[in-house]
Amino acid sequence: MSALEPASRFQAALELAGLGIPVVPVHYPVAVAGARATGCSCGGGGCATPARHAALGVGPADATTYPRQLRRWWQGGEPWNVAAVAGRCVDVLALSCPRPAAEVAAWLAAHRVEPGPVIDLGGPVVFLTTVRRNPTGERRQAGSGWLERVCHGELVVLPPSRLVDSRSPAWLAGPQLPFADEGLLWRVLAELPEAGKLAALAMVNEHSHEGSA
Ligand SMILES: [Zn+2]
Repeated sequence: MSALEPASRFQAALELAGLGIPVVPVHYPVAVAGARATGCSCGGGGCATPARHAALGVGPADATTYPRQLRRWWQGGEPWNVAAVAGRCVDVLALSCPRPAAEVAAWLAAHRVEPGPVIDLGGPVVFLTTVRRNPTGERRQAGSGWLERVCHGELVVLPPSRLVDSRSPAWLAGPQLPFADEGLLWRVLAELPEAGKLAALAMVNEHSHEGSA
């Protein structure tokens, strides 16, 4: 796929809106002449959050599920990235864990927690959850990594957006799934064992599945 795909991003915005997730248009990565790195479509050489901040003068409060507004934003032909806003119909837990996402999924399954929609951001993994009433922006250690409650009002870039350095967020579990309960997911992720133990548990699980097959 080309780096410029306004139609697919508009389509994604519509689909997310149809699932009740309000979205905003966000700047996207652009090639910078003479440089190997990518820059931001805002044109600001020193952009602090390239391809991660809202475009068209839109703010977090403007996030919408209204198709006519989405059309106005995306039909100008610009391939704006798509982002949800934490606290607007959806809350977000970010987990940075040195082990593969499948091992975290096995941990959740062992605790009978359905994680709901999950996005791989090419580093941290992000869970979309029910909205917590009193957010704290809390961050704590979870196993050998970190777990964070994304502050309300922060943008969360969703697939098929592109990030700088050719990274693309990808759905590990699709946005159509019911959101996990924020408090429950936080509690179970906060109890993640450290990396070596998590890997060992995942291996035991795999073997027990093989044994039962
Ligand atoms: Zn920018």
